Amino acid sequence: MLLQVPRGTKDILPQEITTWQEFEVKSRQVFCLYNYFEIRTPIFENIALFKRSLGDSTDIVQKQMFVIKQGKDKFVLRPEGTASIARAYLENNLGFGTKLRKLFYIGPMFRAERPQKGRLRQFHHIGAEAIGLSSHNLDIELIEISDYLLQTLGISKYKFIINSLGCHNDKLKFGILLKKTLLKHKKNLCGECKLRLSRNVFRVLDCKNEECRKITNALKFDHSYLCDDCKTHFDKVLEGVNKFNIDYEVREQLVRGLDYYSGVVFEIIHPELGAQDALGAGGRYDHLFKELSNKEIGAAGFAFGMERLMLVSPMKSSPKQLSGYIITLGREATDRGLDMLREIRRAGISCDFNYSDSSLKSKLKEANKLGARFVILIGEDEINKKRVTIRYMEESKQEEIEFEGVVNFLKEAIN
Ligand SMILES: [Zn+2]
Ligand SMILES: [Zn+2]
Repeated sequence: MLLQVPRGTKDILPQEITTWQEFEVKSRQVFCLYNYFEIRTPIFENIALFKRSLGDSTDIVQKQMFVIKQGKDKFVLRPEGTASIARAYLENNLGFGTKLRKLFYIGPMFRAERPQKGRLRQFHHIGAEAIGLSSHNLDIELIEISDYLLQTLGISKYKFIINSLGCHNDKLKFGILLKKTLLKHKKNLCGECKLRLSRNVFRVLDCKNEECRKITNALKFDHSYLCDDCKTHFDKVLEGVNKFNIDYEVREQLVRGLDYYSGVVFEIIHPELGAQDALGAGGRYDHLFKELSNKEIGAAGFAFGMERLMLVSPMKSSPKQLSGYIITLGREATDRGLDMLREIRRAGISCDFNYSDSSLKSKLKEANKLGARFVILIGEDEINKKRVTIRYMEESKQEEIEFEGVVNFLKEAIN
């Protein structure tokens, strides 16, 4: 236990970190193109925020929150990003002077779930939120940016599932309709779903039980619960998406696992993740702000699970290469070598030094293991000649150059 990471968490090791960094850099570039700005909120928030925004009867609030008690206060390690960002938007008055505030975030989220492939207790989200407007064009932009982000990360074969829950009133109507229909199948639903019928009927659609899925998959409402405005909004969104050559399917069963969603919602699935897991998801959540602050603020967003993106992306980066490695023999050579080390590093070239007392052979072995491109050898002979021996590690050849020429040599060689 002492020497093990907690279940459902993992170390991201030096050999993996370059892939993570590349994912982050590429995502930041995409968000920048669409004028989204990064925001970093604390990883824990007051428990009330999540209960209020995600919904008391959701699986996350009921079973998956990591609660921290500190004196009289209760905090939760954030299970997702949207609630914190809505809180930050209101608290910092980020809507001041602008009709639309576009934000993105990258960071760890926490859910006390049973760990399995592609599902960890500490996982990472890349997400975006566009807050201030209810325009259908914004829904389209969020679907389009999700698509571009996936392409940029080298991912293909994914598919969008899109639905509309309608405005708050429509969603209530949808709920009533759903309950009426599901009541006819009550005896075939699992025990938990029987309870969900009265607590929160939408959660029946998230149930993984096979019998329940058979019943819910057969449901068909033809979006009869949508009011005229929401129907038009949804049609316009689909019209926009049709222009982009995006693979998508409309599915009425898609309601998303959190209560704050309304309007157009979407999920991105990938065949390599299996039927139950999405790469990412998003949608409109205009009602969240009403719930938190009693203000009417239109908003929509999405989030991707980074670990899942990595499972299906062919993009793998190798660790950064070390350009130089200095090996010295003897006191004077070491003094000279350490000066040179500093000079090389400050010229913007990565370089390291062999600090151990081992033999030349084992020092060279170490340089090889580190993947250094050039070894700079300084011994007694070199000190006398005021020259160093540069060994090309890949080509296994070497040459002598003057002390003063080392920085320039490396500069030219690595470019
Ligand atoms: Zn409506
Ligand atoms: Zn069920």
